[in-house]
Amino acid sequence: MTIAETQTTMFEFTGNNLCLDFCNTLNDRKDNPRELLTSYDKLLLWGQEAHILTEDEAQLLDVEAKEHRWEAEAVLKQAIELREAIFRLILSRIHGTPPAETDVATFNTVLSHAMAHSYIVPGEHDFAWGWLPEKRALDRLLWPVVRAAADLLTSEELEDVRICASDTCGWLFIDQSKNHTRRWCDMKSCGNRAKARKHYSQKKQTL
Ligand SMILES: [Zn+2]
Repeated sequence: MTIAETQTTMFEFTGNNLCLDFCNTLNDRKDNPRELLTSYDKLLLWGQEAHILTEDEAQLLDVEAKEHRWEAEAVLKQAIELREAIFRLILSRIHGTPPAETDVATFNTVLSHAMAHSYIVPGEHDFAWGWLPEKRALDRLLWPVVRAAADLLTSEELEDVRICASDTCGWLFIDQSKNHTRRWCDMKSCGNRAKARKHYSQKKQTL
């Protein structure tokens, strides 16, 4: 299914960063996790909604995936392993604990593979990053994700990464609020649920 066929997006993009939005493809991480990347198709849809794949690129990969099912399955498995490694690496910084060596190794393996496909493009006054036009590489949508994660992990912005204050959610976001007081991944969902719970328990206490 393409975005054009769906009225609304299936995935949410509240993380303010590509790699955090990728981490947020697992719902209720802290309690009863629900996987959103349940197939290679879903991974392609996420790539389109994240604007790292055009509709044509996704369609080409879809055809390729149907011809190489096992390879597509392996890419999906790698995507989830990468996502979880990114999540734990970021969490280790949030909690001030050392990252697991296995997570660093998993991350670096995908990163070095991705960087082998990157190049720079001269512009009028500066340069931009580009990716080699390997349109049939099933894992190509992981390349910008892992590079965004490497950029974030090595930047000062890492200090502003927060985990949603919900007891269940576990989504990550960069707090870009003026006073650095953002607590929820999304005020409309997690924030409102927490407010409703607080209201209910206060009401119960006054009864
Ligand atoms: Zn949340």
